[in-house]
Amino acid sequence: MQINISEIISTDYKVQTFNPEIEMEVFCLDGERYNFIRKSPVELKAQNEGHSVVNLSGHVDVTIDIPCSRCLTSVPTRLAFDFSQKVDFEKLKAEQLDDLDETSFMEESSLDVDRFVYNEILMRFPMKTLCREDCKGLCLKCGKNLNEGECGCDRASLDPRMSAIRDIFNNFKEV
Ligand SMILES: [Zn+2]
Ligand SMILES: [Zn+2]
Repeated sequence: MQINISEIISTDYKVQTFNPEIEMEVFCLDGERYNFIRKSPVELKAQNEGHSVVNLSGHVDVTIDIPCSRCLTSVPTRLAFDFSQKVDFEKLKAEQLDDLDETSFMEESSLDVDRFVYNEILMRFPMKTLCREDCKGLCLKCGKNLNEGECGCDRASLDPRMSAIRDIFNNFKEV
């Protein structure tokens, strides 16, 4: 959704609030696609602070389906946060608009809500997601989710650290 904020940019101290919907259905990051389980409309306040500086503040509340880093089980992850970002439109006009990554959500006087929200979520996207702290992950041999019980596979022979030690030992013997 595009919001035209030209009036706010040009009117000192003007304040306006918006409740736009997030339109993207998936959150794409590094080639992965994460589904939104829930999206609340964005609470967005655009406030002119004088001299063409507009403060964009508000609240985002979404729940994203992120697979556990170890066992790939779906982990509904809620990201609810306040944001606040000042954009200096005088400076923007002087510089090359599209050279500025952080303002890629602005096109002329329209604010692209999805792009703006994408950036804000990206900054807070968890580096690692676990279904539980002591998640045992998947068996490297048969793929069984080890949180659900042992599969009986002999995984010691698959542990790369173990085989590295064995290689060293074997080489040593040959000398
Ligand atoms: Zn897990
Ligand atoms: Zn197994």
